[in-house]
Amino acid sequence: MTSKKKTETILTTTGRRKEWTHGIVNPPVYRASTCLFDTYAEYRERVADPAARHLFYGRKGTPTQWSLEDAVTELEKGAGTMLFPSGVAAITAAILSLVRAGDHILITDSAYDPTRSFANGILKMMGVETTYYDPMIGAGVEALFKENTRLVFTESPGSLTFEVQDLPAIIGAAKARSIAVITDNTWATPLFLNPIALGADISINAATKYLGGHSDVMMGTATANEQTFTKLRRTAYGLGQTVSADDAALVLRGIRTLGVRLKTHEENALKVAAWLKEHPLVDQVLHPAFEECPGHAIWERDFAGSTGLFSIVLKTGTYEDTAHIVDDMELFKMGFSWGGYESLILPSDPTGARSVSNWSAPGPLLRLHIGLEDADDLIADLEAGLARYASHLGL
Ligand SMILES: *Cc1c(COP(=O)(O)O)cnc(C)c1O
Repeated sequence: MTSKKKTETILTTTGRRKEWTHGIVNPPVYRASTCLFDTYAEYRERVADPAARHLFYGRKGTPTQWSLEDAVTELEKGAGTMLFPSGVAAITAAILSLVRAGDHILITDSAYDPTRSFANGILKMMGVETTYYDPMIGAGVEALFKENTRLVFTESPGSLTFEVQDLPAIIGAAKARSIAVITDNTWATPLFLNPIALGADISINAATKYLGGHSDVMMGTATANEQTFTKLRRTAYGLGQTVSADDAALVLRGIRTLGVRLKTHEENALKVAAWLKEHPLVDQVLHPAFEECPGHAIWERDFAGSTGLFSIVLKTGTYEDTAHIVDDMELFKMGFSWGGYESLILPSDPTGARSVSNWSAPGPLLRLHIGLEDADDLIADLEAGLARYASHLGL
């Protein structure tokens, strides 16, 4: 499913098969549980091969879900994609497809917090041991490999703190020992990074974020390379994971405009971040396109762009004090998730979510998602918020 076409073109054509769409531009939403077989022979044929795209039972999908799977597979340059009811479900199933009791795995210290919770809870209970590693470790990850290490989990840039990982170095070290690599690719999307092309075995998207893009759907995708796809599919089926055709249609619709949306998210975020960088209350801008972000040079080397999510660290004050910024914002609202068209702001302390790379900062961290509003309006909102903060602190 590789194509020489440019990404923007692929976004408009991908996942559209005439036998599924019957000539309609978008695949219809097939709501299905039971699929009826006319004859005994048809029944036997439909159940014979679990990998074949035969209408067989709703849990195995319909052309609506298959269209989305094909689209994500093409964008991620993988061999196949499984869909999950959330990004976290995609992460946990991807990990489960590669480990068993007695194994050891490595997870970046900058991982999305629920990924840690899964490792510290369910994986531990199953007898899988986790070691966290410094996101900036690069090829040095090798020193942490044990006889029973099966997997290195990466997320680049990291959640909250945006360290950009040296994926080619980490993948190189892991491959030399036949250790699998998973990448959480949610921040970059397949438009700005192709982990499988760099050698990763599975690339994950919380499609809840940019692929969906409109804050109205929960979904996760896991795309695997040729060697790993059968394991991933078996695990997803075994866990009973499935998504509705309605949700698949929403994500497929989101993908059609991913290219144009990301351009604006990128441009707006760069403008807002540049303004924040000059603000006297801002200590650090943790945005991969800025030199002070750990791993900035790696971002420049490996990524095709930047998206709308980044953090700032304030020079002074406490998390309690940030109420004076966030309570009266006009455009930036507080809320979990990101990747929709709207701007978000969230005070988030990384301290509790780190175990090997110490987090120290002079003031609180605010995570920002820059939406599709006018960048100058967003800057005015932040300017007023930071002015309220300054006056509260008596600065
Ligand atoms: C949001 C997020 C997830 C989880 O996605 P959900 O759909 O909310 O479960 C995973 N990884 C990253 C980096 C995220 O930001």
